[in-house]
Amino acid sequence: MNRIASILFLFFWIPAVAMAQSGGLVEAGKAAFAAATLTNEQVAGYSRQAVQQMDAKYPVAGPNDPYMQRLNRIVNRHRTISGIPINYKVYKTRDINAFATADGSVRVFQGLMDIMTDQEILAVIGHEIGHVVNKDSRDAMKSALWRAAGINALASTSGTVGKLSRSQLSGVADYLLGAKHSRDQETEADDYSYQFLKRNGYSVLALATSFEKLAKQGGSGVPQFLSTHPDSRARAARVRNRARSEGLAR
Ligand SMILES: [Zn+2]
Repeated sequence: MNRIASILFLFFWIPAVAMAQSGGLVEAGKAAFAAATLTNEQVAGYSRQAVQQMDAKYPVAGPNDPYMQRLNRIVNRHRTISGIPINYKVYKTRDINAFATADGSVRVFQGLMDIMTDQEILAVIGHEIGHVVNKDSRDAMKSALWRAAGINALASTSGTVGKLSRSQLSGVADYLLGAKHSRDQETEADDYSYQFLKRNGYSVLALATSFEKLAKQGGSGVPQFLSTHPDSRARAARVRNRARSEGLAR
C-alpha cells in the first residue's frame, strides 16, 4: 500500500472503529443478527419465559375463581385454534386489556371481563389469536428480544433456548405489553376474529360491540388496550358494514 492510500485508509477507518466501540454499533449489529436467526421454536420458548414472568407479576385467578370459571366456560370449545394449542389465564386487575403471545398463551384481564359479554370476550380473544396466527406476535417478540434483552447471549446458544435473566425478562415483558402493531396488522387480526366468530356460529357483531365498548372507555386513564388499538369506532363500523354485506346484520 502506498503512503497516500494508507493515509486515506486510516482516515476512514479510525472514525469507524471509534464509532462502533463508543456507540455500540457492533453490539446492535450482533443483536439484529441473532434476532433474525431465531427459529419459531426459540421465539415460542422465549415467549413462554416472558409470559411466566408476567404470570408471576400479575395476580392470576385460581381454578375456583369465578372469573377463571367463566373464562373456562367461554373458551371450552377453543383449546386449540388454527392448530395452535392455547393456554388461558385471567389476571385479576382492573385493566381493560388482553394479550396473546407467540407460544399460544392468552391472558385476559378482569377489567375487560367486567365490561364485556361472553361473545365480546371471544371476539377480543379471536383478535389476539389473529396476531399469533399472522405471526405478528412472533415478530413483536423478536423485536422485544432485540431491544430489551442483551441478545449476545442468545447468539451463543444457537439452536437452543437460553434462560433469560430476570431483568432481561422484565424488559421483554414491558416491551411486549407496550408493543404496537401496524394498522394493517390490526385490520388483518380483526378479519381473523370475524371469521373465527362466524365459523363457530357466534354473532360477528360481538366484534363491533366490543370495539364500541372500548371506544367508550376513553378519557382519563385510557387503558393500554385502547392506546395500542386505535380507531375503535372506525373498526366497529367496518365490521358492521361487512356483516351487512354478508346478510349477517341489518
Ligand atoms: Zn391488535
